[in-house]
Amino acid sequence: MPKGAAISTSRHKPKLGQHFLTSEAAALRIVEALGDVSEATVLEIGPGRGAITDLLARKSRRLIAVELDRVLSAQLRMKFSMRPNVEIIEGDILKIELDTVFGAKPGSLRTGLNFAPEPARVIGNLPYYITSDIVLRLLEYHRYFSTLVVMVQKEVADRLAASAGRRDYGLLSATVQLYGRVEQLFTLPPGTFSPPPKVHSSVVRITIKPRLESLRVPEAEFIRFLKLCFGQKRKTLWNNLKTAYDEDGLRAALAKSGVKPSVRAEALPLEKTAALFRALGDGGS
Ligand code: SAM
Repeated sequence: MPKGAAISTSRHKPKLGQHFLTSEAAALRIVEALGDVSEATVLEIGPGRGAITDLLARKSRRLIAVELDRVLSAQLRMKFSMRPNVEIIEGDILKIELDTVFGAKPGSLRTGLNFAPEPARVIGNLPYYITSDIVLRLLEYHRYFSTLVVMVQKEVADRLAASAGRRDYGLLSATVQLYGRVEQLFTLPPGTFSPPPKVHSSVVRITIKPRLESLRVPEAEFIRFLKLCFGQKRKTLWNNLKTAYDEDGLRAALAKSGVKPSVRAEALPLEKTAALFRALGDGGS
């Protein structure tokens, strides 16, 4: 394909959540939400036909774009072959080895104990069928990232950004907010995409700033505890937790952390959930 040629617009794969951005102004707005990327490495998830990729190829120091669709990734590779700062990886963002892509390289001079590479920024108009899985996987590897700007279904954005006690607050909100600050930036109508999805889409920015230390909780155990607290929607904290803790210990920990047994996890800010976790000891049952 000649340099600058457009990527095929004749087909799309609904199963891969393919809704391509058709508005250049919207693509620019999303890219600008990442801030100045002239010195940054950017990871793009699902570049598709390249609406966002085009802008980032010009603006960023280094761009790594991961696309699952074999045809699209081949077309992108051709299109950006003259751009040494752009790397197109054909692969599944839920499976590629992020340690290999972003970790220190063995044998490199930059692998010393003090080597701390500049964290990358992540951008993506995410395929809706795996939005939460992608966000959760990125958070699992948060050490490599400083900012995530993702376009998701508006309802998911509402959940990501909801604060405790609000209707949309749940396990996803609590988990994401454990790792950073969430801002819901703007919403785009279905007509901004081809083919148009059935839903509105919102752009969310997550600024990575893990709260594990300030909440004094160990990562894996606390995530397990959150899952338990939110185990059965509409059940009280007491009913969800009594499956894993003895009732006397649970009663004492709830009292110590000032949490009413009748409350639901959805109503509890992270500070309180962490206090309860700590009061329960090491989180073991
Ligand atoms: N970024 C493009 C845009 O804004 O026009 C395309 C966005 S489209 C909503 C989602 C893209 O993610 C599609 O190109 C799709 O093929 C790709 N995709 C779907 N599942 C994927 C996965 N597991 N890993 C990487 N890319 C994926």
